[in-house]
Amino acid sequence: MKTILIRNALIVTQDESRRILKGDMLIEGNRISKIGEVSDSADTVINAGGNAVLPGFINTHAHVAMAHLKGLLDDISLENFLEKTFLLDANRSDKGIYNSAMLGMAEMIDSGITSFHDLYYSEDIIARAASRFGIRAFLAWNTLDDEFTTQSGSPLKNAESFIRKKHGDLVTPSVGVQGIYVASDETYRGASEIARKYDTTIHTHLSETRKEVYDYAAAHNGQRPVEHLLEIGFLDDRLIAAHSSFVTMREVRQLAKANVKVSWNSISNCKLGTGGMPPVPEMLDHGITVSLGTDSNGSNNSLNMLEMMKFSSLLVKNARWNPAVMNAQKILDMATRDAASSLRRTDIGVLKEGNLADLIMIDLKQANLIPAGPDNIVQGIVYSANPANVDTVIVNGKILKKGKKLRRKIPETEKEKMI
Ligand SMILES: [Zn+2]
Repeated sequence: MKTILIRNALIVTQDESRRILKGDMLIEGNRISKIGEVSDSADTVINAGGNAVLPGFINTHAHVAMAHLKGLLDDISLENFLEKTFLLDANRSDKGIYNSAMLGMAEMIDSGITSFHDLYYSEDIIARAASRFGIRAFLAWNTLDDEFTTQSGSPLKNAESFIRKKHGDLVTPSVGVQGIYVASDETYRGASEIARKYDTTIHTHLSETRKEVYDYAAAHNGQRPVEHLLEIGFLDDRLIAAHSSFVTMREVRQLAKANVKVSWNSISNCKLGTGGMPPVPEMLDHGITVSLGTDSNGSNNSLNMLEMMKFSSLLVKNARWNPAVMNAQKILDMATRDAASSLRRTDIGVLKEGNLADLIMIDLKQANLIPAGPDNIVQGIVYSANPANVDTVIVNGKILKKGKKLRRKIPETEKEKMI
């Protein structure tokens, strides 16, 4: 079994009591075996030199195979955006999906994202890319009504057969639903059934824009999407709902009661000019688990969790005229332990003995992070850090970035090879 010893680190555990420890960490195989003073030797020794080691970030809403769409879908509304992406999706090749996914994974690893939760078709190709790249992937096969899909065959059947296949250690398959504008009750119910049958999570877009909610309500006697999905039994503790931006307090209570998890996609929502954001403080007050999602490079243009943390934090402070409405620790929780619990995992998102070795090291000696130490390291990470500070990234006990360099070359970047 391969071993890695990280010496002399400032370990931001993100455990129950958010301990920050000075010490060493031993990784044996794919797990953390010791934290504290470690006298063992190891195959690889990394001297952290007082730098911060923390759980890798978990991105809970992505479409990684759209990584090549940076700069191609800018300055348009979501309706136009979806129209254009559906057209682009219809003409993609397997090779293009694979290459674009590899590019997105490189970008995520570079900024310290060690797990991502994806929503797309052709997740079998993305699963292959993730296993090859070495990143942990929670992959939801997207479903929608047959009449709207660009997939060959029935999306629900495709999702089920994807879940039934073996995908290796790093990949957790699941099912998703695109959204209420292209999915009937039958599709929602079908996805729920699959999730229950195979005990998976469900991934969906929910109430992302005001137009989507108003159009739905106008056509359904004033009933709003959350109310309807509750009525048909779609809302439960398996569900991770991206966006959830246009919800009433009644809907917040309904989401909380059903134990639905929310992925907050602040940058994507703002870039699309949706004019809304989820009522996160109220969601938290009601016990909803909220995590952070980049969404795709089409609507975010970067897959950067450090940027997500800072932006989300500033957005909510400004929107509520209250800098204390959410502190840096809560934002870091959303990007790590809360995201893990949304995905029903306790073995990632927290650094403790026995957990999987998914972690990152941040260089605290660069100008933008000085002076960061035990008392302000969390603020440093949330408000000041950028991907250039991410020195080392380890996923499942394997080093994917070291000395600020990705181990795997950034894949083909010519756009035509990613379509
Ligand atoms: Zn999305």
